[in-house]
Amino acid sequence: MTPEEPPAGNPANVRICVYCASSRSCDPEYHRAAHRLGVLLARHTWSVVYGGGAYGSMGALADGVIEGGGKITGVIPNFMKELEWAHGGLSELHVVEDMRTRKHLMLSDSDAVVALPGGTGTLEELFEAITLKRLGIYLNPIILVNMRGFYDPLLALLDRCIREKFMDSQHEAMWTVVSGVEEVIPAILHAPRWTREARNFAVI
Ligand code: AMP
Repeated sequence: MTPEEPPAGNPANVRICVYCASSRSCDPEYHRAAHRLGVLLARHTWSVVYGGGAYGSMGALADGVIEGGGKITGVIPNFMKELEWAHGGLSELHVVEDMRTRKHLMLSDSDAVVALPGGTGTLEELFEAITLKRLGIYLNPIILVNMRGFYDPLLALLDRCIREKFMDSQHEAMWTVVSGVEEVIPAILHAPRWTREARNFAVI
């Protein structure tokens, strides 16, 4: 899909990359939100790619997609598969050599990124997507689900990056913040267009 062609164009081929927590110990509200997001994306007939895990929000997301009758692809490094961390009921599971390959595969074919609350794994993946978007390498919507105000400190830091001129104010258009998973699909459909021309203001 090109940036000129919004995800609404051809639902059957749209693939949403979801980053979320592996934690089983966080507030169950996060797991419920991941499950609900899976159901919503499946019902919208968009497919999902994620880290392939069975635990925490990752497992809940996959269960939601499966229950919603959708397609979900997992990408997991071999060592996690060996530790039996992979979800057993996915439409597709790619076992890759390392974390770097996994991250690249998850992002490269996706039409949008959604970040639910999570730990450093989620944050690292999210920041790579934002960084590549700034450089005009990744061009698609990036949605932050700021439920329970989880991302407030991160948004304050990003705002400071702009205020202190580590980034340009135009970079704020790279991500869209929503307060719950029900808003994710409309946010993807209405995200500001981003092109390779972003390279022209990548360095400020
Ligand atoms: P975190 O947000 O720190 O829980 O990390 C979630 C991300 O880290 C996933 O997308 C994976 O890249 C990786 N990860 C960490 N722990 C696991 C696990 N138990 N199963 C699958 N992926 C995991």
